[in-house]
Amino acid sequence: MKHPTVVYWVSRALRTHDNQAFYQAQQIALNQNAQLIVLFNAYPKFPHANLRNMDFLLKGLAEMSDKCAKLNIPLYFRVGNIIDHLEVLNQCFDIRHIITEVHVLRPILAVQALVSNWAYKHDIRFLKVSTATVVPVQEASPKLEFAARTFRPKILKKYREYLNSDYILVHHPQQIALDDRFKTSDIEMFYASNPLPNLAISKLVPGEDAAINQLKTFIQNGLDHYDRRNQIDANGQSYLSAYLHYGMLSPTMMIRDVLNTQHPNAELFIEEAMVRRELAENYCFYMPMYDKLEGAWPWAIETLKKHEQDERPYLYTREVLEKAQTHDDLWNFCQRQVVEEGYLHSYLRMYWAKMVLLWTKNAAEAIDILVYLNDTYMLDGRDPNGYTGILWSVAGVHDRPWFDRPVFGLIRTMGKEGSIKKTGIKL
Ligand SMILES: Cc1cc2nc3c(=O)[nH]c(=O)nc-3n(C[C@H](O)[C@H](O)[C@H](O)COP(=O)(O)OP(=O)(O)OC[C@H]3O[C@@H](n4cnc5c(N)ncnc54)[C@H](O)[C@@H]3O)c2cc1C
Repeated sequence: MKHPTVVYWVSRALRTHDNQAFYQAQQIALNQNAQLIVLFNAYPKFPHANLRNMDFLLKGLAEMSDKCAKLNIPLYFRVGNIIDHLEVLNQCFDIRHIITEVHVLRPILAVQALVSNWAYKHDIRFLKVSTATVVPVQEASPKLEFAARTFRPKILKKYREYLNSDYILVHHPQQIALDDRFKTSDIEMFYASNPLPNLAISKLVPGEDAAINQLKTFIQNGLDHYDRRNQIDANGQSYLSAYLHYGMLSPTMMIRDVLNTQHPNAELFIEEAMVRRELAENYCFYMPMYDKLEGAWPWAIETLKKHEQDERPYLYTREVLEKAQTHDDLWNFCQRQVVEEGYLHSYLRMYWAKMVLLWTKNAAEAIDILVYLNDTYMLDGRDPNGYTGILWSVAGVHDRPWFDRPVFGLIRTMGKEGSIKKTGIKL
């Protein structure tokens, strides 16, 4: 007889701490006296997959698998069509529930729709649980928010009630073989059969232990300087974005720990790491065209169209931009950092993006190029924050109209001298 089984299909929360989806999967399994399996399905052809982002992901996943094994829960790693793998699993086990995370980006939503249909046909319950935000996206707001000022009061009113819950996993009583579980040694085998574009791997250590360490380091050493984070030398940035992107760090834990410090800069951090970050989630959830000019507000589309024929001071192709071969040493410096390190200081990201609008044919092309560069090279790329940051820079999403200028129209401009002064960067 096949044993009742719950599957936690993990994709956006590579952690065992404070993982609401994993916790809910285990609670269901415990209540039903069922086995619990964690399944990760890799798509080597997933948009912009490369050695940089896959190295970070897979090493983090191997660490998660080790932690799962200690809880008597196997983490299986599969490659290719998830439906085929679910079919095989369902032949061995009696799958009753599939739990996964709430997601807002189209490629994942498309796969989730396939799995949901498959589950429905097999009389399996399919459930999505929020893990990537403090306040679940639909509870934070039931609609597309216009700006931080419309979103802020809503989320600030609610978020504290989400900070107290503990999602602690327990040793799972149902015995299931752990031999087939994912291990670090499987990573090289995966690369051997699925060659990926080669990019230098990040200096950031992957995994949930490293994520929690980074949060502690930031609280001890960085939070004091967070109000001066625009100054590169102040070293006030947290470097948490990649950990948040892969869900190696729980946003709830991050906000709770920072709030508990009662540090005067805690509010500033919460503004970025919760208000702005969850505003980006709101944008991508309610705006399916989050990575296109069509995703901008009407005033911005109108002003950009009006200025489409304006003469550009320089016109660059994607290739020239990608190789950092523009006339502008600050921009080339930023682009080299993006390519070599997969990280760029947040103030400079805005300059980096806005110049692409100035130097390309039109806003639609600028957005396409930026999405390509951001998603290919940034370790935290392919994230709601990335699409929202690009649309903010190029097409004024969540911003207001400024003064009418060539090329930009009413979109806020940024200059090289001002950016150098603000960041104190030495070229
Ligand atoms: C053109 C452009 C592209 C961007 N691409 C990405 C991306 O691909 N992935 C990504 O995570 N962020 C992106 N951002 C947002 C922001 O620049 C990064 O989150 C931040 O620089 C990451 O560094 P940090 O973790 O040290 O930030 P910190 O300043 O320490 O901030 C803490 C956290 O707050 C959040 N945050 C900070 N600034 C913003 C913001 N403006 N909007 C939303 N959330 C914010 C991030 O989760 C960040 O990790 C982009 C911004 C722009 C303008």
